[in-house]
Amino acid sequence: MRVFSKDKPLLSLKEALTGAVCPMDIRQTLNIVEVEYWGFDEQLHKGQIVVHASLTNETRSIFSELLQKRFPIQSIEPIVVYHWSDNESMQENNTSGFNYRNVLGTERLSNHATGRAIDVNPKINPYFRNGASIPPNATYDVGRKGAITPVIAQVFERRGWRWGGRWREKDWQHFDKTAQGEH
Ligand SMILES: [Zn+2]
Repeated sequence: MRVFSKDKPLLSLKEALTGAVCPMDIRQTLNIVEVEYWGFDEQLHKGQIVVHASLTNETRSIFSELLQKRFPIQSIEPIVVYHWSDNESMQENNTSGFNYRNVLGTERLSNHATGRAIDVNPKINPYFRNGASIPPNATYDVGRKGAITPVIAQVFERRGWRWGGRWREKDWQHFDKTAQGEH
């Protein structure tokens, strides 16, 4: 029998978008997706992730495959829980999708801003910019629990998502899938 550990109550889409400073046309394309995942405590959990509605089914199947592989994930909660602070969410190693924000250190809108990107276990899979890790003092060690390996990345890549771990400036936590031809 599968037993869920005690998780926080699930949010409605409206609750998950409370306080989001985001244009209405983007807001209307978002969906909240319930997923199951294998926790760091080796128990089954339910989480929620806000993504572009067109990525709903893929998001479900990606997380179900990660669960089958027993890939440990710390938590999966919408960024509203972290007061819309990517930094707070990263510090807690929380996996999330939509966040209306720019690419760090740029004026360019992130793919997270349209719900077309997901960051997985961000503290264990940091982003490196100009040689410094974000979050600060984080390291990437492929042998560490919750680190994204190429095998795990392929769960996304087989569905046409890109992995930031393949980029010159490594963004180990980051996966995205833009609308066709938009890259
Ligand atoms: Zn990201």
